[in-house]
Amino acid sequence: RAKRKGLNQFAFYSSAMSSENSENLELFNSVRKAVLNQEFLVYYQPQVDASSRKIVGAEALLRWNHPKKGMISPAVFIPILEETGVIFAVEEQVLYTACSQSKRWQEQGREPIPVHVNISSPHFIRSGFVSTVEKVLQKTGLSPQYLGLEITENVAMNHSDHVMKVFEELSKIGIRMSIDDFGTGYSSLSYLQNYPIDTLKIDQSFVRQIGQHEGSEKIVRMIIYLAQSLGLHVLAEGVETEAQLRYMFHYGCTNIQGYLFSKPVPANELEKLVGDSEWNLIE
Ligand code: C2E
Ligand code: MG
Ligand code: MG
Ligand code: MG
Repeated sequence: RAKRKGLNQFAFYSSAMSSENSENLELFNSVRKAVLNQEFLVYYQPQVDASSRKIVGAEALLRWNHPKKGMISPAVFIPILEETGVIFAVEEQVLYTACSQSKRWQEQGREPIPVHVNISSPHFIRSGFVSTVEKVLQKTGLSPQYLGLEITENVAMNHSDHVMKVFEELSKIGIRMSIDDFGTGYSSLSYLQNYPIDTLKIDQSFVRQIGQHEGSEKIVRMIIYLAQSLGLHVLAEGVETEAQLRYMFHYGCTNIQGYLFSKPVPANELEKLVGDSEWNLIE
């Protein structure tokens, strides 16, 4: 049953945590402190329109600035946040920070920069999630059209009435939904026509292999074609080279995100990138 998957995930993390891995245990204990000491930061990575090469949005990415270990990757600490249940509070904070930032940019008279926030599976399916989002929008005064949420395929695959309802409520509010790391999850595609989805984000593992691996190129073209057929936007993640950008542009990928344009940066650095005309890379 679909609902079980979420629970199994928790079980998996639990057993990983209890394996007396002292480094994990240390991290486990420091997450609570980290929240109190405000060690979690939000960075932003621009999303660029493939044809105009303008910034059309920014993904909010969590960073943990650990006093001793320095910047810790979310790949390492998100599972710990999920295990400890701290993820709900932290992601609400990310949501709040990103929405206030987007609102602030507008108040400064800049062109609107929509923000896209990653939501973990347990958070997305948690009761009250939609109210949380509504509350944050209301508090920050951000219009919902400037908020996007990114979830992975494993949530969308969960064909429960509840997941369907959450999708519908969020879309009714006017929030745009993206499927993150698309192509790496389960292969059922039926959910794509059932849920109000705005964008497919092609996983960077395929993007990285362009020019090197024919199979990955075929998958990339298939995802772009699939998105076009369903009337969805399609974004390529992890674009690092001009060759990759050109490939994406050639096959009709509408949006680009990657180190070629910028790494995730603090909000004030993103501001400097907006309007940057040095990105005229393809003709
Ligand atoms: P993601 O949502 O797929 O985000 C894209 C990741 O790819 C980011 O890693 C970004 O820095 C990296 N990236 C972007 N362009 C390039 C590129 O050209 N080359 C390479 N090598 N990497 C690139 P990051 O920031 O380390 O985040 C990793 C993952 O952690 C994210 O993957 C996301 O799944 C998760 N994450 C981050 N923040 C949150 C959050 O607030 N909540 C949840 N649930 N997950 C988060
Ligand atoms: Mg993402
Ligand atoms: Mg991704
Ligand atoms: Mg990812």
